Amino acid sequence: MTASSNSQVPLRLLAVHAHPDDESSKGAATMAMYAATGVDVMVATCTDGSRGDIQNPAVEGEPHPKRDMAGARRLEMANAASILGIKQAWLGFVDSGLPEGDPLPPLPAGSFATLPLERAAAPLVRLVRSFKPHVILSYDENGGYPHPDHIMAHRVAVEAFEAAGDPGRYPDAGEAWEPSKLYYDRAFSPERFRALHFALEEAGLQSPYAERLAAWLESDAEGHTPPPAPHPTTTQIDCGDYFEVRDDALRAHRTQVDPLGFFFAVSPDMQRRTWPWEDYSLIHSRVPSELPEKDLFAGLR
Ligand SMILES: [Zn+2]
Repeated sequence: MTASSNSQVPLRLLAVHAHPDDESSKGAATMAMYAATGVDVMVATCTDGSRGDIQNPAVEGEPHPKRDMAGARRLEMANAASILGIKQAWLGFVDSGLPEGDPLPPLPAGSFATLPLERAAAPLVRLVRSFKPHVILSYDENGGYPHPDHIMAHRVAVEAFEAAGDPGRYPDAGEAWEPSKLYYDRAFSPERFRALHFALEEAGLQSPYAERLAAWLESDAEGHTPPPAPHPTTTQIDCGDYFEVRDDALRAHRTQVDPLGFFFAVSPDMQRRTWPWEDYSLIHSRVPSELPEKDLFAGLR
């Protein structure tokens, strides 16, 4: 009998994220909900976040992040993990930063996004083999948004999902373990922003999503409006009860998040009434499950 078919064995969820703070802006309520209901939840953070800018005016001028951004973010990450009730592991890579300018400057030598895939993926393969997740969450091939570390995080997650179960690959990274399901998160799904936008308008409030919606409604080359999603939602997790926990975890990343900013534009109550879910796309499953799903562990319980 395999671990995944034994209901006595706790289920395990691993989410792969590029920087400390990404776990709290993408899928945090899902993770808090599963952790609270007995699932073993772990976040793998690929990089140290050392090239993040200070995004919170209240933190400007504080000496610690100025002197040691990676150190400040380790403390923030520990707070966020404790708020979410999850485990967290650093994969040990250096933040590549978001290149800006025209032409774009080259990525810093040795940073995460510059590494050969096998080297970048090895620590995650090792973590998958020791933590033994049944489900892995990742970004899509655009990284959710095209930051080079997010695209690399996607690549290493897919590589680990495919390679961890094969004892012939990464032979120095522990005993093989085959995860059962791989999802891409759809935290920024246009359908969700559309619903929130109209809920705000209906309540006579200002919506910060108008531009996002207009971009979404632009037709594709074949005239589809909006263009079909490359990875449509297959799985909606009802986790509205954990929206406050998610917001608290996000605010714990205080160098990166303006508590008056975009992420907090819609109250948790209005979100619960409008879109009480976090959305995912099932990309690969080694167990049978029927779509649409309401549980990342459908087919595993
Ligand atoms: Zn990031």
